Amino acid sequence: MRSITTFDIQYAHRFYGFKGEAQYLHGHTGTMTIEVEDTVNQGVNMVFPCNEIKKIAWDVLKNFDHALVLREDDPLLPAVLGVYKEQGILDGHPQNTMKGPAFKTELATAYPDCRLVVTKETMTVEGMIKITYGLLKDKLNIVKITFTSGDNEASAEFPSDKSMDRCPLCGILLTEEGVCPKCGYRKKS
Ligand SMILES: [Zn+2]
Ligand SMILES: [Zn+2]
Repeated sequence: MRSITTFDIQYAHRFYGFKGEAQYLHGHTGTMTIEVEDTVNQGVNMVFPCNEIKKIAWDVLKNFDHALVLREDDPLLPAVLGVYKEQGILDGHPQNTMKGPAFKTELATAYPDCRLVVTKETMTVEGMIKITYGLLKDKLNIVKITFTSGDNEASAEFPSDKSMDRCPLCGILLTEEGVCPKCGYRKKS
């Protein structure tokens, strides 16, 4: 069965080189839906707590929220970095607190200190799904991601290739040692 979570991400971007209005900088509230598949965890009678899926996803994806997403070859990138530097906000600001850990994948690099994500490909809804799967595939058994932004929507399905060990008392992922980080349950070996 599947557990499904949905949340919003607000971001600014543009399609550099695209022959249309989207070549201008603009913003969206994007809606991300993540579907996780596994057996039903008998102890709690659920696949996975949806708020936990959201927590795991948001921990990295919050770097996209209230952020600017630019392609690595976009000339706006050095221009924006220059202004941030001049303003003294390039390396962070006391009020910039909603930061996830910086990450670098093949498709995207997050600079949480200046709320910027630099992407290899244009950040379309399709591009965002590829980036998201790359960031989360080892943390969750994701079988489908849907991303909607303005008039654009895309979805992709992925193979169900792992079963996660979950706590029978609160449903969250057990550590590699078989311990629940929330309630302390220990898996009997
Ligand atoms: Zn757009
Ligand atoms: Zn537990």
